[in-house]
Amino acid sequence: MIRVGLGRDLHRLVEGRRFLLGGVEIPADKGELGHSDGDVLIHAVIDALLGAAGLGDIGELFPSADPVWKDAPSMELLGAAWEQVRSAGWRLVNLDCVVNAERPKLLPYREKIRASLAAVLGVSSETIFVKGKTGEGLDSIGEGLAVEALAVCLLEQ
Ligand code: MG
Repeated sequence: MIRVGLGRDLHRLVEGRRFLLGGVEIPADKGELGHSDGDVLIHAVIDALLGAAGLGDIGELFPSADPVWKDAPSMELLGAAWEQVRSAGWRLVNLDCVVNAERPKLLPYREKIRASLAAVLGVSSETIFVKGKTGEGLDSIGEGLAVEALAVCLLEQ
């Protein structure tokens, strides 16, 4: 059986926070505000994986009211979520992601982000792709007020 999963997340960008994508810190004048470290890409990936496996969503697995997950590294959340998916017998066929951010440019960090996600998921970098798009100066993303991530994955059992 194969199943597709979709994830999406958006975080406000503010000064004084780190800008993290897929566990990689990218130099930027603003970073993601949010519960945990705000890694918007990882949050979208977690929802895609859980959705494909029918195992709920990130909010159910890691409730924001639970102090255990307060400021938890998102990479740890991804590892824990993937362990549940993997334990249910699922294998990752591929994961494709889009990050919408006006700046900084993602391209110089793409391979590092792919490798970072691949390491947690126990797959090769070729299984994962990530691309960056700008907001063309429009709306909250284009104005640099927010960053959005979308992820789609295919699982095989
Ligand atoms: Mg989030």
